[in-house]
Amino acid sequence: MDPLTSANRACTERINVEHSVFKCDAWYVIRRELEAYTGKEITPENVVGLMLSSKEYWDKIETTVLKILKTRKEFKQ
Ligand SMILES: [Zn+2]
Repeated sequence: MDPLTSANRACTERINVEHSVFKCDAWYVIRRELEAYTGKEITPENVVGLMLSSKEYWDKIETTVLKILKTRKEFKQ
């Protein structure tokens, strides 16, 4: 089992989208990549502003969130 899969299975808050996208350890690496890219910590409060600030950020954030949501769906029981 890869680390993402086990972190995901271990997570008790999989149902919570906000948790998955902004807090869950299962997506720590993916989230860090995004934060390195934007130079900012991604939070529910600033994510919309970041997306609207540039087309590049929009695409990057959208891709990351979709990746998280898609992976999450695969693990849903
Ligand atoms: Zn979690």
